[in-house]
Amino acid sequence: AAISTLPDLRGDFPGMITHDGTPWHYLDTAATAQKPRAVIEAMGRTLGENYATVHRGVYSRSAEMTQAYENARRTIANFLGGSENEIVFTRGATEAINLVANTWGRANLKPGDRILISQLEHHSNIVPWQMLAEATGARIDVCPLTDDHQIDLDVAEAKLTEGHKLVALCHVSNVLGSVLDAPRAAKLAHNVGAKLLLDGCQSAPHMSVDVAKLDCDFYVFSAHKLYGPTGIGALWARSDILDAMPPWEGGGAMIDRVTFEKTTYAPAPQRFEAGTPAIGEAVAFAAAADYISAVGLDRLHAHEAELVERLRRELGAMNDVTLFGPADSAGIVSFAIDDIHPHDLGTILDEANVAIRAGHHCAQPLMDYFKVPATARASFGLYSTHDDIDALLEGIARTRRIFGKA
Ligand code: PMP
Repeated sequence: AAISTLPDLRGDFPGMITHDGTPWHYLDTAATAQKPRAVIEAMGRTLGENYATVHRGVYSRSAEMTQAYENARRTIANFLGGSENEIVFTRGATEAINLVANTWGRANLKPGDRILISQLEHHSNIVPWQMLAEATGARIDVCPLTDDHQIDLDVAEAKLTEGHKLVALCHVSNVLGSVLDAPRAAKLAHNVGAKLLLDGCQSAPHMSVDVAKLDCDFYVFSAHKLYGPTGIGALWARSDILDAMPPWEGGGAMIDRVTFEKTTYAPAPQRFEAGTPAIGEAVAFAAAADYISAVGLDRLHAHEAELVERLRRELGAMNDVTLFGPADSAGIVSFAIDDIHPHDLGTILDEANVAIRAGHHCAQPLMDYFKVPATARASFGLYSTHDDIDALLEGIARTRRIFGKA
């Protein structure tokens, strides 16, 4: 079927076919994206003919590898509109949030201070703050949602006090696709002297991101959701904040000078990258950012918006379907069908080579809010087409027949 804004990019993605060679309707990109050949090849070259360690060797291969690793940092910085000394490579968004909690958080929060999160956060933007609250005596407030399932910033405005040191919010919900008005959230946070952390796991792959325009203080995301490898992600933090943050993990590469009496630390970002880093992953992460930039995030966003609009319209016309999330969701459609458990739906769809996610999506407080145990979620990527939606809708009709609902 015709796609309005993008050429068919499936040929770039070896993962987009099933093992027996038939098309695979992969609608779980919000969990993890398939990888284009450019990323797989960058990883292969780095682990193959270019491989050596970074930051230590006196030989030329290591110097070249170091340059490639640092170029990757620059590419990721440019991708976000930040500067390279503001990018820390982490294992992913989860580790990036834990890093902020354990360094900035422990250094800046004291008993009675407050952290504002929201009802729709992923567990990785809840649990590290609970652990930090436990360690420091700080308290957590939860911002509710509007009727169309956006974080209610009017309530956030009313709730925020001078006691709030941090506002940590999901930029795009992995369950609902709701897009946060980040500049407004930043203004509200900054008005009370708090910092804003954005969980960008689902925004970086779906829209063009510029940390200066978002006006946030921290931005975290994972490469594997951006068509890159697992095992790597990034923390962007404003340089004045990052420079003042104490180290977290100790070890090689993060030091300036070690003696048994006293150790001094390297400047940021090296101070936060203890040990031999994920070298191939970093280079492949940059290849993913280059790939998605060449496709164009605005074109990608328009493409996914077209698919979301159609799927929400078709599901919305079915009287046994509940849709979650706002109409302008970024690439993600969560729904439930009366009397059919999402897991049963997901299992029957799999028989027709349609892969959706069914579960709590690591957002149990959001499931509690909706009073459901789970939702079904279809999420799109730059390779998704109308054929995938056709296959999903056929699979839903078949599931209804199996359940005797037709
Ligand atoms: N936040 C959001 C919104 C996510 O979608 C995810 C991944 N599902 C995460 C955080 C955690 O990312 P990771 O598991 O890659 O660290």
